[in-house]
Amino acid sequence: MGEFDLIARYFTRPTPNAALGVGDDCALLQPGPGMQLAISCDMLVEGRHFLSTVDPGKLGHKALAVNLSDLAACGAKPLAFTLALALERADEAWLAPFSRGLLALADLHGCELIGGDTTRGPLNICITVFGEVPAGQALLRSGARAGDDLYVSGTLGDARLALDVFRGTQSVPAAVFEQARARMEQPTPRVALGLALRGIAHAAIDVSDGLLGDLGHILDASGVGAVVDTSITINLIAACQDSTRVTALFDADTQLGYVLAGGDDYELVFTAPASKRDAVHAAAEQAQTPVTRIGHIEAQRGLRLVDAQGRPVSVQHLRSFDHFA
Ligand code: ADP
Ligand code: MG
Repeated sequence: MGEFDLIARYFTRPTPNAALGVGDDCALLQPGPGMQLAISCDMLVEGRHFLSTVDPGKLGHKALAVNLSDLAACGAKPLAFTLALALERADEAWLAPFSRGLLALADLHGCELIGGDTTRGPLNICITVFGEVPAGQALLRSGARAGDDLYVSGTLGDARLALDVFRGTQSVPAAVFEQARARMEQPTPRVALGLALRGIAHAAIDVSDGLLGDLGHILDASGVGAVVDTSITINLIAACQDSTRVTALFDADTQLGYVLAGGDDYELVFTAPASKRDAVHAAAEQAQTPVTRIGHIEAQRGLRLVDAQGRPVSVQHLRSFDHFA
């Protein structure tokens, strides 16, 4: 199978929304009147972002999911994406499930594959995603204000738990592992929540490198600080939410580490004024996505972790993921 057969078979589909899809030198996109284009790009490299043994269908899902998560964090509606793919060989046993997993998630969000590039090389998947948002309404990292409530969606830490089990540095019962593994391999981009938070949230970011680090980006960009209640966040790991599990899986520090610095979660962290608590809950309900209030924003810079009594909690050993640290 040649390059163009491969593109035609696995990556060319009708694009009713885009003005022009795969097959010419450029694709053409027409954002709606008064809309800004939201654009983001994320690359997945074998051995760095995924294990060579991963199911190709799940990899297709994840490659797009991590990009849709960035649109979600801006409150943008997905429109289209491009796919730059380096492959060792044209292996149909890999391409067929990869393209199925990728395009199934694309269909779920009405996000059309409009172009890309295909080359031979070490397996590498690079997606650029395009969304639209009414001009001036994108949720930015820089919008947090003192007095805002601080929220996070869904659960945190399970993807990192699964990675540790794969690496052999952690062990949990099989059912816990399967649940954590699904979070690592098939994250759910919180697109509906991002859209529902337009006009409500002051600032937002998606959690890819760990809660503390990504929240830190909001704090830096906004010139503010935050207080986070670790007695709430510690319970955000799905692995420990099942009340029928009588024995604790790991000690409290380990559990907190997964939640605060695990990474690969693709949940949204956002701030909203305290006067909009009802609106936040309505948005969460509309998006069918749980959200938890974990703290608040203060004028004093820095991130302060506290326990249920408001006493400082030290987590100096925790660091967010950094490719070059
Ligand atoms: P060009 O040489 O003009 O860059 P290519 O020969 O690389 O074009 O690609 C031909 C067409 O196929 C283009 O429309 C391009 O966007 C599309 N394309 C290439 N690879 C992919 C892919 N992996 N997924 C989707 N579209 C692709
Ligand atoms: Mg090309």
